[in-house]
Amino acid sequence: MSDSWFKADVSFFCPNCQKVSVEQIIAAADKHNPDAVARAVREAISPLTCQWCKKVAPEGIKVQLGMNDFTPEELAKVKFIKGPSIKPS
Ligand SMILES: [Zn+2]
Repeated sequence: MSDSWFKADVSFFCPNCQKVSVEQIIAAADKHNPDAVARAVREAISPLTCQWCKKVAPEGIKVQLGMNDFTPEELAKVKFIKGPSIKPS
């Protein structure tokens, strides 16, 4: 069983500083289930904080959530370590 990786781009227009805040989240799931991962990402980013002014976005703000598959090639580039894999001796 292999994990599915997703790259979620979370963006919203910040009413405090008038900039678009973009946050990229890498998520792993044991099934290829973008809907479930999208829900998890929404929970993970709550409360939503602007990447520019670090203020918390108001409730009910419209958030764009772009879900992309994250390929093993891309994964290799970000040096993400998913737990130590130590073989039992
Ligand atoms: Zn802001």
